[in-house]
This record gives sequence, C-alpha cells and structure tokens, in this order.
Amino acid sequence: MNRVLIIGAGGVGNVVAHKCAQVKRVFSDIWLASRTQAKCEQIRRDVRRITGRTLSIAQVDADNVAETVRLIRRVRPNLVINVALPYQDLSLMDACLATGVHYLDTANYEPRDEAKFCYKWQWAYRRRFTEAGLTALLGCGFDPGVTNVFCSHAATHLFDSIDTVDIVDANAGSHGHAFATNFNPEINIREITQRGKYFEKGKWVVIPAMSLHHSFHFPEGIGPKEIYLLYHEELESLARNIKGVKRLRFWMTFSENYLTHLRVLQNVGMTRIDPVTYQGRDIVPIQFLKALLPDPASLAKTYSGKTCIGCVIEGTRNGKRRTCFVYNICDHAACYREVNAQAISYTTGVPAMIGAMLMLTGQWLKPGVWNTEEFNPDPFMAALNTHGLPWKETLPKKGFTGFLR
Ligand code: NDP
Repeated sequence: MNRVLIIGAGGVGNVVAHKCAQVKRVFSDIWLASRTQAKCEQIRRDVRRITGRTLSIAQVDADNVAETVRLIRRVRPNLVINVALPYQDLSLMDACLATGVHYLDTANYEPRDEAKFCYKWQWAYRRRFTEAGLTALLGCGFDPGVTNVFCSHAATHLFDSIDTVDIVDANAGSHGHAFATNFNPEINIREITQRGKYFEKGKWVVIPAMSLHHSFHFPEGIGPKEIYLLYHEELESLARNIKGVKRLRFWMTFSENYLTHLRVLQNVGMTRIDPVTYQGRDIVPIQFLKALLPDPASLAKTYSGKTCIGCVIEGTRNGKRRTCFVYNICDHAACYREVNAQAISYTTGVPAMIGAMLMLTGQWLKPGVWNTEEFNPDPFMAALNTHGLPWKETLPKKGFTGFLR
C-alpha cells in the first residue's frame, strides 16, 4: 500500500490530488494538508464527485518543522509531495529527513526576503538524503520538470551531442481579466521582474529584465507570439547535467497588455518585497497585491485557448547537424472539464503525480537529491502520453528556429 501526503491546496495541489486519485493502483491512500483547511475540504468534495475517491485532509503550517513532523508521524506516508510555495521547501525537506520519508517538489527554494531562486540550498541536502537512504526529487512540474526530461530524452534518443537548448513557454489562453497571474502571484511576479540570465560557453550572461525578445512561431494553430528571455531555474541544473552544452536559454510569451500592467505596478512600488509601514503597521506591497489579484485557480472556469511548452534543441546525430522541437500542447477548457483546473496548474500537477508514481513504483528511486533529468526519461515520457500531457517531437523545416541561431 502506498500513502502520499500532498502539502498545499492551491491550483497545483488540486490537480495533484485529482490525478493521484485517478491512479488507484499506485496511490492507494491520499492525504492533502494545507494552511487553510477549507481549501482541502473543497478539493476533497470535488475529487469525491469526479473520481468517487475520498481524500483524508489535515491543517498544517509547513513553515513549522515540528508541526509538520507531527503530521507526518500521524499520517505515515511513503512520500511527501510539496506543492505549497518555494518558501516551504527547506522546512519540508527537514521534516522528511526527521521522519524518514521521500520528498518531491515543483519549484526550488527561495528566501522570502530576497527574490533569488537557485538550487544551492536544496543541493546542500544531498549528503543527508543519501545517508538516510531517501530520495528527494526537485522541480518535477512542467518547467522545471518536463522540460528537463525533454532534454534527457533528446540526449538519449535524438542526439549524439547537444549544443543549444531554447525552452519556449507560451500561454495563448484568455481568462477575461485585465491582469492576472497563472500561478501564485507573489512567486510569479518575483520571478519575472528579475534580470534576464542565460548560459553561454560555460558562463552566465546577465541582461536587463525583458530586454531581449523575438517573435516565435508556435505550432498547432497558436501561431507567432512575442517571447521574452527570462532566467528560469531549470537552466541551472541543465547547465550541470547536459554534458558539453554550449548555450541554454528560456523564453516566455507575454502580451503587451500584461507587460504594461506589470510596468505600472513596478513603477508605483506595488511589486516590492520589502515591508513598508502603512497606518502604523508593516505590509509587504507584493503580498497586498496578491490579495487584490484573482486567485489563479479561479481563472479556470472561463479560461479558453491553449498552452505550448517545449524545447528547441540543436546538436549533432551521426555526424550531421539537426534541430528538434519536443513540445506539449494543453487546452485550458479541457483541463477544466477533467479536473476543475486551468492549464498552468494542470501542466504542473500532472508531472508531479507522474514523478510521485515513478518514485513509489521504485523506477525513480535512488538515495540523494536529484533533478528530473538525472533519471531514465523513458517511463516519464511514456506516462506523459497516458496521463494527459501528450508530447510531440518534430524535425522542423529549415528556417524554423530563425532568430534562435
Ligand atoms: P497557490 O498559491 O495557488 O497554492 C499554494 C498553496 O500552498 C495554498 O493552498 C497555500 O495555502 C499553501 N501554503 C502556503 N504556505 C503554506 C504553509 N506555510 N503551510 C501550508 N500550506 C501553505 O500556488 P500554486 O498552486 O499556483 O503553485 C504551487 C507551487 O507550484 C508553487 O511552488 C509554484 O512555484 C509551483 N509551480 C511550478 C511550476 C512548474 O512548472 N514547475 C509552474 C507553476 C507553479 P493558503 O490557501 O492558506 O494560502
């Protein structure tokens, strides 16, 4: 029997709970715990209505290691799936070490007082997890997560050597609000207001935020979209794990409307992460902004359109140069029909369930702290096709990558 404890009852936690419930032979017992128990109750009602299965639920403050340890000892799971916020990564890893339980997350640790995400804090747990015989799987959402596996799949099956990877992430959907973010607003805005950064010839190149952009033609009817260079966390692990890679970049689409709102919010100080005193009490502007913006999960009901996330990979095979595009297309409305979610939550929650399934069935289990590209990509790629995120790989016509050269 396998028991999982999912922590975090937001947009992604909802998808993970539904998708685990769909795979009863692996996830025979599912617990969901979060800071606000009412959100767990709502997800439990939805999962019961749609799948007929009943989750167990609990309240927990995952910043509090002792409280989380007590919960883990009570539940006795085989695995903790962390889909709370990046702030909780280290406290949850500590709680897993204290209780002897495997760990999985979808986003790397970020200190609250500094908008700086990187793996150094979590990679520092490698020795402790190895000595405890436990596995920690980091960044098992879509990007990071699936994008890393697309690269290891390409390195295994499509190329003898990889020279460049350009990860492209398009949300061509429409939610009908003037401005909203597709996952936690605080985490999302902290990420995209950072300076751009990419890896080239063994070094990191830093550029002003949103200063490099191009039009990119997305497949399957999405068409041309403006993509902007961002720093994204999978670049850090891929730079270590793709041997001999010369350049790694990450690009995301933004509309003019989105960027205008963001610019105004930044200019007036609403994206600040340091406390300011207002009427005698300290408030953090970005946290106040989060309270004003729509809850990302609430966008799902009326969201239409598609996402496309994939990797444009260049390198050589049998002495010849080639370019491959490995990608997934996901439809917002179809996600809502299946699990009451929009596509950004769905594309994050499904890979988390798949990673958990591979850990619980022993296929992705080895003591230590790992990123997804460090495991055999084949069972993961196969599971994407059967659990709602089918992928395609194309050898595009000449000229496809255009500016990417
Ligand atoms: P939400 O804000 O919708 O949900 C986060 C949930 O975590 C909320 O239910 C929140 O509780 C809960 N939570 C926050 N703090 C604590 C705490 N101290 N103890 C217990 N529970 C807590 O976020 P999303 O669902 O959109 O995102 C979840 C994670 O997924 C984030 O880490 C995000 O960065 C990551 N992500 C990864 C992606 C990928 O492709 N790899 C893409 C998108 C997201 P409350 O309801 O009380 O606020």
